Amino acid sequence: MAITAPDRTGTVTITIDGREITAAEGSTIFQAAKAAGIDIPVLCHDERYDPVGVCRMCVVDVGAPAFAAACVRACENGMEVKTSTPELERSRAVLTEMLLSDQPDREQDAKQAKTGDNELLALADRFGVTQDALPRASGRGTDFSSPVIAVDHDSCILCDRCVRACDDIQGNDVIGRSGKGYATRIAFDLNDPMGESSCVSCGECVAACPTGALTNKPIREIPIRPRTELDAVDTVCPYCGVGCALTYYVDREHNAISFAEGREQPGSHGRLCVKGRYGWDYAASPQRLTKPLIRREESYPKGALSADVRGEMTGDAPKERRRRRKPGGLVDYAEVMPHFREATWEEALDLVARRLTEIHAAGGPAAIAGFGSAKCSNEEAYLFQKLIRTGFHTNNVDHCTRLCHASSVAALFEGIGSGAVSTTYGDVINADVAIVTGSNSTSNHPVASSFFKQARRQGTTVIYIDPRADKMADHADIYCQLKPGTDVAFYNALMHEIIRLDLVDHDYIAGRTSNYEALAQTVRDYPPERAEQITGVPADVIRRVARIWGEAGAGVIYWGMGISQHTTGTDNARCLIALCAITGNIGRPGSGLHPLRGQNNVQGASDMGLIPMFYPDYQKADDAGVKARFEQAWGTGDLDPKRGLTVTEIIGSALKGGVRGMYMLGENPFLSDPNINKVRKALSALEFLVVQDIFLTETAEFADVILPASSYLEKDGTYTNTDRRVQLGRKVLDSPGEARLDWQVVQDIANRIGLGWDYTSPREVFEEMVSVIPSYKNLTYDNLGLTGKLYPNPDPEHSDGTVVMFGDRFNTDDGLAHLVPAEWLPARELPSEEYPFVLNTGRMLEHWHTGSMTRRSYALDAIAPKALVFVHPDDAAGLGLADGDLARVTSRRGSIELEVKVSHREARGNCFIPFHFREAAANLLTIDEIDPFGKIPEFKFCAVRIEAAHA
Ligand code: SF4
Ligand code: SF4
Repeated sequence: MAITAPDRTGTVTITIDGREITAAEGSTIFQAAKAAGIDIPVLCHDERYDPVGVCRMCVVDVGAPAFAAACVRACENGMEVKTSTPELERSRAVLTEMLLSDQPDREQDAKQAKTGDNELLALADRFGVTQDALPRASGRGTDFSSPVIAVDHDSCILCDRCVRACDDIQGNDVIGRSGKGYATRIAFDLNDPMGESSCVSCGECVAACPTGALTNKPIREIPIRPRTELDAVDTVCPYCGVGCALTYYVDREHNAISFAEGREQPGSHGRLCVKGRYGWDYAASPQRLTKPLIRREESYPKGALSADVRGEMTGDAPKERRRRRKPGGLVDYAEVMPHFREATWEEALDLVARRLTEIHAAGGPAAIAGFGSAKCSNEEAYLFQKLIRTGFHTNNVDHCTRLCHASSVAALFEGIGSGAVSTTYGDVINADVAIVTGSNSTSNHPVASSFFKQARRQGTTVIYIDPRADKMADHADIYCQLKPGTDVAFYNALMHEIIRLDLVDHDYIAGRTSNYEALAQTVRDYPPERAEQITGVPADVIRRVARIWGEAGAGVIYWGMGISQHTTGTDNARCLIALCAITGNIGRPGSGLHPLRGQNNVQGASDMGLIPMFYPDYQKADDAGVKARFEQAWGTGDLDPKRGLTVTEIIGSALKGGVRGMYMLGENPFLSDPNINKVRKALSALEFLVVQDIFLTETAEFADVILPASSYLEKDGTYTNTDRRVQLGRKVLDSPGEARLDWQVVQDIANRIGLGWDYTSPREVFEEMVSVIPSYKNLTYDNLGLTGKLYPNPDPEHSDGTVVMFGDRFNTDDGLAHLVPAEWLPARELPSEEYPFVLNTGRMLEHWHTGSMTRRSYALDAIAPKALVFVHPDDAAGLGLADGDLARVTSRRGSIELEVKVSHREARGNCFIPFHFREAAANLLTIDEIDPFGKIPEFKFCAVRIEAAHA
C-alpha cells in the first residue's frame, strides 16, 4: 500500500497485524502497538528514555527489504506492519541466543535469583533458548565497591539503558563506556570503581537494567527474593518533601523490606534517590524503643545523661573525656538507659496526663507547649494540635517548619495570601527560565532536581543562585555565587534592572498587584554596581540574569533554606515574590513561586495547624470568628484567643520558667535547634517532658517519660508533599515490641485529660480534618488512589488537582499581590579577626534532619558515615589543613571537632557543616538570632574560626 501524508487531524492510520489503528502523528510503531494492546518485545527500549534502536529485538516487518526497529520507526499513514511473523520470531530468537551466549551461568544469575526481573532471560524462555550448549564469554569482571549496587559486567549487553537512566532521567551523568570491541563495558566516570565514582546511588540504573548486570545488594542481610514471593505495598518515601511514590517489597517471614522500587506518580515518575531506594531499614534497627520508659527517681535532678550531650563535645572538656566519644555518634544506650525503668503503657500514660494536668493547673495555659513533627502524618499532626489546643487551651504548638520555611510562609501569606506553592516543581518543564536559589536541591530534593535538569535539557534556561556551588551549579546555564546573606541586594538589583529596561508587565502590575511604586522606589537604590559590591556577583552577570528573566515568557522560582534560614528570611522571600509579580510570573503554566519543602510532611503538618499562629488551613488563631468556628467544630468553649509561642520562643520561655511542661512528638530540638547549649539548659529546666519517638534521641535524654512510637513504615496516614500532593502512606511492617501507633497514643492522653475522643481509624480523623480544612475539600481516602491528589481539587474523581494557582486572583483580602519592598541588611554576626569564616549549615544527600533515621540506615551510614567541614582549597591550604585532617571549628557559642573536606564548591572565606551529626553538632556553633516575622533562626550565617585540632 502506498504511504501517504498524515491526515488533517494530526493522526495517522496504520494497520498492525491486520488491525486498523489510528495513532497520533509522530508516534512510533511501538507506541501505536502498545496503545492497541499489541505486545512487541524490547530490550534496549524503555518508554521513559529517548529510543535508540540498538538491540533490534523490537524489529517489525513494514514491507521493506529490512526489518524496522519499532521503537524508533515513526508511524506513517497507510503503513502495514506485521509484528510476529515466523521470520521476525526467528530473528528475535537468534538475537536472544547470541546475547545469552555472552551471559554468565543462568543458574547463578544474580537478578534472576533475586527479583525475577531479568528481561533477557524472560525472552529466552519465550523463544525456548537455553544456555546449555552455548559458549560462554567472561572476563569483563565485577564491581562490588558500591555499598548498595553490584555490577556484573559479564551480564551487560551494552543496551545503554543504564546510561540513559543516569543521564536523561536523573541527570547524574555518571555512566559511559570504556574499552574497545569485545572488552567494551559500561564505565563509571573515568572507569572508576562505582563506589569511588561520582555515583550518588540513586539506583535508577539498576531499575533500568534488563539483564541483571546492575543489581541491588541486600540490605542488612535481608535476602532479595523474587517479587512473587514478597508482599508489595504501595506507599510514599518517608524522607523529603518531594514525596516520591514507591513500592516496598516485603518479606513477611522476616517482617522486613527486601527491596524498594519507584512507581509512577505525576510528581516522581518512578524516580527515587538513595534515601528512598535504600534508606528504609532504620525501622528494623535493634535500637528501636519497644517499651514505655520512666525516669528513675535517682536520676533527678534532671539533665542530659550522656557525656557528649552534657557538654563534653564542646571541645572545652578535658581531652580524655573527649576521647570517650563514640564513633558513629548515636546516643549511647548503655550510658542513658540505666537512668530509666520500663513501665506499662497504663502507668506511663497516667503519669503523662497527671503531670501535664498539674502543671497546667498551676501555671495556666502558658506553662504547656507541644512540639509535633513534620514526619508525622496529617492525621497525627491534626490530633496533636487539637490535643494541645483543646486539652491545655494554649496555641503553644509548633514544629520544625519554624526551622525550615517559616519566613517563606510569612512572606507568602503577606504577599499572596497563601503559604503553599503556586505551582509544582514538574511545571518547570513549561518555564522559559527557572531560578533555583538557596537550594542545594541535588542533595535536599534530589528527584525534584532531576526535573530541573531534565527541563534544562529540553530548553528551559536554569539560573542557579547560591553561595555554595552545589551540583545544581553544574547543570545551570548561569551560576551566581553570591556572598552569604546578600540575597535582598541581589534581587533588588535584578528588579532595578528589569524596571530600568522596562521589562515589567505593566498590565499585570496594574491589575494584579499593589504597592508597586514603593517597591520601585526602593530598588532604585540597588543598581547592579552597588549590588556587585554587596553580593560579589559581577554587575554584568546581574544585568544578564535580569534581561533573561525580564524577557522570558514564563519564569518560575524554586527556593530552599538558603533563602529562608536568615534573620532576613522574610525579606528574601518578599523579593522573590516581587520579582515574579512585577514580571507577571504567577498564575500561568511554567511560572510561579515554589519554596521547596523540607521534610516529607512539613506542608501537611502546617496545613493541619501545627503552628502557633494558625488553626488548620491557616485560619488565624487570634481571629475571634475563627476561634468561635473551631470551638463549635471541636465542641469546646475555651480556645486560646491569642497566638502561641514558636519553637524558638518556647525554648526561650522554658529557660525563664514560663513553659514548664512539654509534649514532644517526634521532634529532636537538641540537635535541630540553634545554639544547643541554650536548648540543653531549656530542656533541663522543664518540670516535665514527655518524648514520643522511635529511638532514644538526644532530646529524649532530658525526658521524664519516653513513649515508644511507630515508625512511618508501621502505620496508615496521609502526607502532603511540597507540590500540595496529598498521598496515602500505607502500613508496611508491624511495630516492634510494645511500640504503638502515634494517633492512638495521642488519643489515650487526650482521654486521660477528659477530652472524650473516640476516633477508630486515621480515615475517620481524615474525614473530620477535611471538614475544617476547606483547601482539602472533596478529598477522601478512597479518591486519593495510588498517586494521591493535588489540592485544591474540585473534582478528585476525575482530576489530579490544581497545578497552577492564582490565575485570576490571589488569596489576599483584595485579591491582589501585595508587593513589600525590602532593604538589604547585613547578617547579625559578621566575620571578625577572631572568627574570620562564615559558617553555613545544611543537609547532605544521604542524611536527614538529626540523623535519627538515616544514621541507622545501613546504606546511608555506609556511604556518609561522618561529620565533615567543607572548606575551599585556598582556605584549607592557608590553614595548613588537608582532606581528612581533624579541624576544630569554634564560634562564640561553642566548638566542635570534625574532619576536613577540601571542596571547590565552597567560596573562599565560607565553610559548610551538615547538622546531622551529634558528635560534631553544627548547632553548637549556630546563632539563635531569628527573623522578626517568620521567627526562623539564622542557620545559614554565623562567624567561626577554623584551626587544626590534634586528637
Ligand atoms: S546509581 Fe544513579 S547516579 Fe549511580 S550510576 Fe546508577 S543511575 Fe547513575
Ligand atoms: S527525593 Fe525525597 S521523597 Fe524522593 S526518594 Fe529522595 S528523599 Fe525520598
